[in-house]
Amino acid sequence: MGKFCEVCAKGRMSGHNVSHSERKSNRTWAPNVQKVRIVVDGRPMRVNVCTRCLRSGYVQRAATQTVVTEEA
Ligand SMILES: [Zn+2]
Repeated sequence: MGKFCEVCAKGRMSGHNVSHSERKSNRTWAPNVQKVRIVVDGRPMRVNVCTRCLRSGYVQRAATQTVVTEEA
């Protein structure tokens, strides 16, 4: 599958580009989908989520882990 949000299932839309002379050509709009790590059942998963779902807090982001190795 192409670009679509796995939370709200929003996919691409189609329509026309319209030039100044009103010539129309087909175009598509894809949602702003980001691949993010979210927490599902306490475990991180990588899913495609649109930025609206991210902003609306529909998913719980997994914390990016920074590996700290203590030496000496
Ligand atoms: Zn979404």
